[in-house]
Amino acid sequence: MKKRIYYWVEEKYTNKPIISEVILETKVMMNILTARIEPNESFLMLELNGNSEDIKTAIQRLLNYGEIEDVSKSIKQNEDKCIDCGACVVHCPVKAISVEDYKIIFDYDECIGCKNCVKVCPANAVEVLDE
Ligand code: SF4
Ligand code: SF4
Repeated sequence: MKKRIYYWVEEKYTNKPIISEVILETKVMMNILTARIEPNESFLMLELNGNSEDIKTAIQRLLNYGEIEDVSKSIKQNEDKCIDCGACVVHCPVKAISVEDYKIIFDYDECIGCKNCVKVCPANAVEVLDE
């Protein structure tokens, strides 16, 4: 399974190789989708790949050094408004939008909620759910 989380690392642990250690310990693969490293806090968006038990263990380990929040689903394509222009496709950083038989398909499991598609859509066909 795949799980995406926001992760805030406490100041005292910002120099610790937490991600590498948790990967080695749990064998859960972690992609860093976004990172902001500052002296007093690090913020990461992580994608965890593995079986559900291992992901649970990895999250427990990560919680020893900071706080975690699930990445929620934040957008939805309004198919009635969408004109399948394709403008959103190239602006998606994680390739969550594709074209199939001239139709635009959103993969919400891949979406990281960046809202680039909302900004570029000329038809206001992407709704923001969490604001
Ligand atoms: S919100 Fe971002 S990641 Fe999600 S589909 Fe739109 S462009 Fe892609
Ligand atoms: S930019 Fe908007 S109208 Fe164009 S394909 Fe994407 S969601 Fe549909």
